[in-house]
Amino acid sequence: SEAALLPKLENSFAAELEGAYLAWEGAEVPRPEVLLLNEGLARELGFEPAALRSPEGAAWLTGVESPPGASLLAMAYAGHQFGQFNPQLGDGRALLLGEVVTSEGRRDLHLKGSGRTPFARGGDGKAVLGPVLREYVMGEAMAALGVPTTRALAVTTTGEDVQREGPKPGAVLARVAASHIRVGTFQFFAAREQEDMLAKIANYAIARHDPDLTGAENRHMRFLRRVVERQAELIAQWMSLGFIHGVMNTDNMAISGETIDYGPCAFMEAYDPATVFSSIDHMGRYAYGNQPGIAQWNLARLAEALLPLLGGEAAIPQVTEEVNRFAPLYEAAWLSRFRGKLGLETAEEGDMDLITGLLAAARGQADFTNLFRALGEAARGDSAPVRALFAEPGMIDAWLPAWMARLEREAPGAAERMERVNPLYIPRNRTLDAALTAAEAGDLGPVERLLAHVTKPFTPVAGAEDMTTPAPAGDRFVTYCG
Ligand code: AMP
Ligand code: MG
Ligand code: MG
Repeated sequence: SEAALLPKLENSFAAELEGAYLAWEGAEVPRPEVLLLNEGLARELGFEPAALRSPEGAAWLTGVESPPGASLLAMAYAGHQFGQFNPQLGDGRALLLGEVVTSEGRRDLHLKGSGRTPFARGGDGKAVLGPVLREYVMGEAMAALGVPTTRALAVTTTGEDVQREGPKPGAVLARVAASHIRVGTFQFFAAREQEDMLAKIANYAIARHDPDLTGAENRHMRFLRRVVERQAELIAQWMSLGFIHGVMNTDNMAISGETIDYGPCAFMEAYDPATVFSSIDHMGRYAYGNQPGIAQWNLARLAEALLPLLGGEAAIPQVTEEVNRFAPLYEAAWLSRFRGKLGLETAEEGDMDLITGLLAAARGQADFTNLFRALGEAARGDSAPVRALFAEPGMIDAWLPAWMARLEREAPGAAERMERVNPLYIPRNRTLDAALTAAEAGDLGPVERLLAHVTKPFTPVAGAEDMTTPAPAGDRFVTYCG
């Protein structure tokens, strides 16, 4: 039977956290059709791909009908958006269907674009195909790069037009996450002084993400510490790949440590810490180089929200210390990632200066992704490709000998090590944009081709040279929210 082709959905969030959500349903849509299905992920979760592709599967994946065992709900959360606190955001256009229990733990199954909920405020509750595919491609690229992230399960078109700047094809993203508990989830209840709910959610989050802390003394402080540790690792990974989230509002920071809510995000091309792509980020608050500082700021907001559980005012000095641990943890994680990018397995005092020296040379000149691949070739003995990335190779010429000398003190095989951590294929802005435009016009081919490469980001493929072409010098690419 059809039901046997599905994993049984559980509903622990619905069952344990009444008051943290509103039970809701997806909107009717004219023609749900699965456009893109992540078959590997579907199988990992216990879904039979054919069942998801069926008309019934498409109805589940748009929220039009409930799959067996589902308990659809919109989560409540608050958040600081560009620094301004909004006490009520919540899932305005998204629904949690339930959870799948895997060998790696509980996974949320979540729909985005499934219609207005009571949290929608002025929004239409819909999502547009282009931005939904963008979240799919970016998230799957990040997963392939080893970054903790929500995963894209499916893109289902609705057969209806959504009004943006003109009519756009509507779609729903089905995504999978370790959970959708955000910094803003705690802020929602802190703002309402609902300590009982704060404690319930914290204990639920601990059971789900830090089960070893269940029932432990000081568990809430230790939970805060874990969230800080996860974010330090995550942001270091983003930075090592040139990833710019674009909307690091506190409602878009998951306490699981996964990258969540891919909106106007992008990979930096020419290296410059001031890089911003988002059309709504006028002040550059979420620029590439600001991300670690913003993460720590968000963690301070989490600590504030958790304060009643942490011992109140008297605990502020210790809580502050926990939040401030972000900086050294981040620096250590960053150093370790960039050492790896340069083929270094051992640690030396001068490594920080070596790395910052490279970045200073590259600033405003070299494509960030191609730089490290080209350095891999330099490690093999050919420095022409890396020199070619610089309009003025003087600075890289001055830097290379110090790195070469440093590599002499490392085990052989630096180039191979570098090629395992430095991607060749990322979703480049212009390439992704062109692929999304083609998809909105009915041709999914370019999206599928891009996905094929970014999900095997380290493996060179003949005929994919166009995927590594850097943005033209001075290119001003802009990303929009969907
Ligand atoms: P985001 O910046 O995408 O993380 O969204 C911030 C808030 O706006 C969340 O509460 C979303 O649910 C809500 N939102 C974004 N787009 C829409 C939309 N089209 N309809 C309703 N709510 C939306
Ligand atoms: Mg969001
Ligand atoms: Mg969003």
